[in-house]
Amino acid sequence: MNPTIGYVTCPHCGNQGATVHREKRAGKRLYYRCYDGPAGECGTVQIRGPGGQAWITANMRPVEGEEQDAAVEDAAHEAREDAREEIRTERRRHHQEQRRGGLGALLRRAGDVILNEQEGGEA
Ligand SMILES: [Zn+2]
Repeated sequence: MNPTIGYVTCPHCGNQGATVHREKRAGKRLYYRCYDGPAGECGTVQIRGPGGQAWITANMRPVEGEEQDAAVEDAAHEAREDAREEIRTERRRHHQEQRRGGLGALLRRAGDVILNEQEGGEA
């Protein structure tokens, strides 16, 4: 079983000791296990969408020391990835604009020439 990284109060039964874990597979999503509810277990609760992940993150009480570093490392890693992606997007946009600017300028010049000739012909 994945280590307990925190606790949440189970929204289904009010058990304050539902344990939060992190998936090992890609995505490393959070989930919680409620096996000590007043009416028996709720089970393993996976809410893998962004809203569910946000709920766990906002409501969990992290276990001291346990995975704190990993969580920080993850956040730092994601921030780096975001920054890289932003730079890539920025570069791509820059290239596209350069290309479009060059071609657009050419087309505009060609259009001006044609327009000028037409105007000249009608006058
Ligand atoms: Zn429960």
